[in-house]
Amino acid sequence: MTAQILDGSIIAGQVRAQVADEVKSLVESGKPAPGLATVLVGENPGSQVYVRSKQKACLEAGIQSFGHNLPATISQAELEQLVIDLNRDPRVNGILVQLPLPSGLDEERVLNAISIEKDVDGFHPLNIGRLAQKGRDPLFIPCTPAGVMFLLERTLPSLEGMNAVVLGRSNIVGMPVALLLVRANATVTICHSRSRDLPGIVRQADILVAAVGRPEMVRGDWIKPGAVVIDVGINRVEDASRSKGYRLTGDVAFDEAKEVAGAITPVPGGVGPMTIAMLLQNTLRAAKQINS
Ligand code: NAP
Repeated sequence: MTAQILDGSIIAGQVRAQVADEVKSLVESGKPAPGLATVLVGENPGSQVYVRSKQKACLEAGIQSFGHNLPATISQAELEQLVIDLNRDPRVNGILVQLPLPSGLDEERVLNAISIEKDVDGFHPLNIGRLAQKGRDPLFIPCTPAGVMFLLERTLPSLEGMNAVVLGRSNIVGMPVALLLVRANATVTICHSRSRDLPGIVRQADILVAAVGRPEMVRGDWIKPGAVVIDVGINRVEDASRSKGYRLTGDVAFDEAKEVAGAITPVPGGVGPMTIAMLLQNTLRAAKQINS
């Protein structure tokens, strides 16, 4: 059996086109174009690439992009003041502080400073707290977890009662994905670095979400036949045959897993593009909430 490949680039392209259409209608109705402020601190090359691609995606969708590139030497107070200024700026509907911040800066305090109405990354404690509570709804769902759920909900008629295994419990991926799966009535197991017998647990999974940051850790013989596998991992692996000297790979051994799974995301071109599409959707939602 060869799995259905869940092409995140195509699906994200459809979401982005829909966002662009809605932005166009908003502007034609006399409302201002939505605006996203990106805050990048320091010179982390990965973060620079992510922020540039988010800014480009905004412009393509008709969303204004306000870039703030700051030196790693910026003080905590200056960074928080910038966030406060952006909270007050009516042109800015969403604020994205690219993580991780350089050491010495208190990430939690910066995220706390973002107005919950502009928290398009969904990492404000109030948004995460509401995600964890029955009967409460966050204003925004974190983008990568939202992208994972978008792919799952397109692939499966219902997630209800399915066994879902999430590998990883980080604040930005594993834990919010697990909370979203619970909300979708799946039965969820969260695994981490202290979990025992990962292969045995993963073999029970109808749905597997891998977010550990370990290249190809999940082998084909861990996968339950027919399972839906969402590989969030983005890992650089040395590869002398490539001009850059490395290639990107996921947390799942794709070539093995695709022979067993029912559906699987590739890396790159799976969850990554969905993250950006969900950010655009959240920014549009923020603008609509202000204008409604
Ligand atoms: P993270 O903060 O480093 O968290 C990794 C999680 O995996 C932790 O919970 C850790 O357990 C667990 N883990 C590590 N080694 C393990 C092992 N051998 N067995 C079982 N669990 C293990 O990483 P993250 O930020 O969640 O990112 C995970 C991956 O997703 C990375 O490759 C990252 O680049 C990628 N990512 C992709 C996107 C996207 O848009 N596609 C977005 C964000 C992240 P402990 O809690 O016990 O330490």
